[in-house]
Amino acid sequence: MPYLTIDLTRLEHNAALICRQAGEQGVSIFAVTKVLCGAPPVAEVFLAAGAAGIADSRLDNIARLRQAGVEGPFVLLRVPTLSAAAEVVALADISLNSELATCQALSCAAQAMGATHQIILMVDVGDLREGVWPADFLFLLEAVKLLPGLKIVGVGTNLACFGGVIPDESNQDLLTGLAKQAEQTLGLPMLVSGGNSSSLALLAEKKLGRGVNNLRIGEGIILGRETINRAPLPGAHLDACLITAEIIELKSKPSVPLGTISQDAFGNVPSFVDRGLQMRAILDIGRQDTVPEGLTPLLEGCEVLGGSSDHLILDVTKASALAVGDHISFIPSYGALLAAATSPYVKKVYVR
Ligand SMILES: *Cc1c(COP(=O)(O)O)cnc(C)c1O
Repeated sequence: MPYLTIDLTRLEHNAALICRQAGEQGVSIFAVTKVLCGAPPVAEVFLAAGAAGIADSRLDNIARLRQAGVEGPFVLLRVPTLSAAAEVVALADISLNSELATCQALSCAAQAMGATHQIILMVDVGDLREGVWPADFLFLLEAVKLLPGLKIVGVGTNLACFGGVIPDESNQDLLTGLAKQAEQTLGLPMLVSGGNSSSLALLAEKKLGRGVNNLRIGEGIILGRETINRAPLPGAHLDACLITAEIIELKSKPSVPLGTISQDAFGNVPSFVDRGLQMRAILDIGRQDTVPEGLTPLLEGCEVLGGSSDHLILDVTKASALAVGDHISFIPSYGALLAAATSPYVKKVYVR
């Protein structure tokens, strides 16, 4: 069975590195566990490394973390569904919101439970995923301010996710300007949550500044890279998570299929470059478990040719001698890691 190795010592190192760098600039970090499906051991090391809270996009993950006794606080990243308002209040300390109707439902649920639920209002500064349009921000702020059982604790934005818009001076200034208005309206200091791992390059250059005092970081900690150019973060481990699979066939074959080429298993018409005979390895992992294109082999001289549902095909012509039964490990991309962490067919192995 293929397995995903999660090195908790390396994750803690990466988390501590980022939390320390952020802390020096007055920025707190909500560490994001969603790509690892809210794994409790991972959340524990993030908190030990200095994260101000654990953030996840799914209530199921937050429920599992609470069940496991992880302390929190817990931040729900995905804007909640209206229908889950009661669960949101019961499970999350803070949620990110952009809809008045949902805030009203959260308010009702909080009152019914005698609880106070904390809200970060999301503003869309251009990436076109979640968030209220800046021109409508004050209206939402004034309306949510009146809702009993809710406390507005911050203003946030998300970037580089849907639109690929990078954090810059102008969109960060827009956010901090709105946060200032919120502070004046509410008479309270605000968390100004400027973004995700796409902000790590700005943080490293000490250019985040100007009022942003919080980031929500997942990929940067887990894969050790910022997400604008996927550049490695200096001092971070890039191999805290590895995917490993086993060679089930190893044979010399031509590099171009024989016969007439039509659609592959996924409806695409593949094309091939003739590189003569190749030594080809087939591994016991496929699209049901990961994203083949997102796997970088650790072993030198290997190249991923592609995958089907259950098979990964490598050109190992230039690699050192291999045998059937050997295991090959890969550094996953975010997408490949997300799929592997989610697949029940990939065993999760925690190491220290
Ligand atoms: C996933 C997510 C993050 C974390 O993104 P990374 O790129 O993994 O750091 C932050 N904020 C929101 C709203 C998210 O959904």
